[in-house]
Amino acid sequence: MSFSENAITVLKSRYLKKNGLGEVIETPDEMLQRVAKHIAQTEKDFDYWYEKFYEFMASLKFLPNTPTLVNAGNPLGQLSACFVLPVGDSMEEIFEAVKQTAIIHKTGGGTGFSFSRLRPKGEVVQSTKGVASGPVSFMKVFDCATESVKQGGVRRGANMGILRVDHPDIMEFIHCKEKEGEISNFNISVAITDDFLEKLANDEEYDLINPHTKKSVGKLKASLVWDEVATNAWKNGEPGLVFIDRINRLHQIKGVEIEATNPCGEQPLLPYESCNLGSINLSKFVKDGAVEWEDLKETVHTAVRFLDNVIDVNNYPIDQIKNETLKNRKIGLGIMGFADMLVDLNVAYNSQEGINIASKLMDFIQSQSHIASSDLAQKRGCFPAWEESIYKDQNILMRNATTTTIAPTGTISMIADCASGIEPYFTLAYHKQVLDGKKLKYVNERLLDRLQSSGINVEDFLEELIANGGRLKGLNVPKSLEDLNEVFVTSMDMDYTAHIDMQAAFQAYTDNAVSKTINMPNSASVDDVKQAYLYSIKKGLKGLTIYRDGSRNVQVLVSASNK
Ligand code: ADP
Repeated sequence: MSFSENAITVLKSRYLKKNGLGEVIETPDEMLQRVAKHIAQTEKDFDYWYEKFYEFMASLKFLPNTPTLVNAGNPLGQLSACFVLPVGDSMEEIFEAVKQTAIIHKTGGGTGFSFSRLRPKGEVVQSTKGVASGPVSFMKVFDCATESVKQGGVRRGANMGILRVDHPDIMEFIHCKEKEGEISNFNISVAITDDFLEKLANDEEYDLINPHTKKSVGKLKASLVWDEVATNAWKNGEPGLVFIDRINRLHQIKGVEIEATNPCGEQPLLPYESCNLGSINLSKFVKDGAVEWEDLKETVHTAVRFLDNVIDVNNYPIDQIKNETLKNRKIGLGIMGFADMLVDLNVAYNSQEGINIASKLMDFIQSQSHIASSDLAQKRGCFPAWEESIYKDQNILMRNATTTTIAPTGTISMIADCASGIEPYFTLAYHKQVLDGKKLKYVNERLLDRLQSSGINVEDFLEELIANGGRLKGLNVPKSLEDLNEVFVTSMDMDYTAHIDMQAAFQAYTDNAVSKTINMPNSASVDDVKQAYLYSIKKGLKGLTIYRDGSRNVQVLVSASNK
């Protein structure tokens, strides 16, 4: 077992079993045994699969999402990271959803909602003759509930709030997080429709529809709304965009409608659906400068089996969620450590070769995961809604309606000690302030290796690197190290097109969606943000999150998910 010191700290604080006094009573190894045992329990050949599941986690080639690591084999037994709950247009339905949210958060899951079914602010409510308070005011109720329910005493829940661009309250929604600290337990995204994009292209007005009466209650100029969205994203990274019609067009199940995604956007789901995720650590799949395809193939097959088992041994927090989840049996296999892999292959993230590797890699993972799911379908049967799926038309048996999702891997990448998700490095070196006033130095390990073998004065060089914001770019690099400049790139060394190109390369071979931040420099303009939106549409993304450097006082996402 090869957990790093950092990983052990994370495991102790959040993952390992504790007794009533809060003392850790489990070793990291025992945690993996607990997980492997729980997930292998459905297997006839338990010993074989227990060993396989244990081994691919212990070698850090694969880790499931946090709730599986924390809850498998423990009393809660809730193993999924992603949920979407419907919010109906009545007090009963709204507060039922608040209750369900609290139950899910208690078990470590994240929730996404569309608030588009709620009647707009100011509309008369027949039963009470009062006026409706509208989606944004109810989001605040969900936000407060989230604030008070800590997950197992460790972390707060996370939510995604979505509103259709044609909802009458769209302007209020776009601005609802403008003040820092407001609705802070939500990420928000505007659901952009094809109709809106068409009106935008023709510089026309579009209709605002009251979801209660289904009638048009006004019009807005598409370009005006577009401008408001971009201006707010420029100011503080929100709202994000979700291309909802595109998501539904590409959905594997026909005759149903997706309205929302999970908190980080990578998992669009139907109302009451949940999904469990797991990620392959690519930093373990390069040997002597080449990708180990055979090993990767085997890992994908084992991972699909593991994630399919999770569906059956999962303890679902609510009956409706169990019913909906078991119909489609969606799983989300993704990756982490992609930036590490590229460095080991000596390829720059922001290069055509980098994009080519991403496409080849995800094409391989996607097709192998489909083969694995198809193999399982032969033995275990197809997912129950298969008759209504695209797979029936193609005459392909499938055990799972979806197999791939690229998650942020905010915490599990710390456990595996690799770069998060498909993100480039955020920084190569920095000083970390620790409690007693001491400074700890963090340095990218791969870079450190190369520096140490180069014969330069490493300590002096690292101080210069840190003073340069942890970037090699712009630094006076000795001749002997010039080749590193190209490969050790950070997210700020490339423009938004490089980020979007990479997200698009992965999206093309991902059943669900891809979590990625499109970083922009502080000097970017609102117009640049709009250009990025248009480029992301052209490249076929399902959604988009922009972050302009320094635009938020607290860079939560950045500091949590990048190393
Ligand atoms: P991890 O690394 O902990 O497995 P990720 O960063 O990959 O998780 O996030 C995957 C998904 O897990 C998110 O999109 C969200 O649905 C859920 N999630 C992440 N963090 C939280 C949180 N604090 N509370 C609830 N759900 C969360």
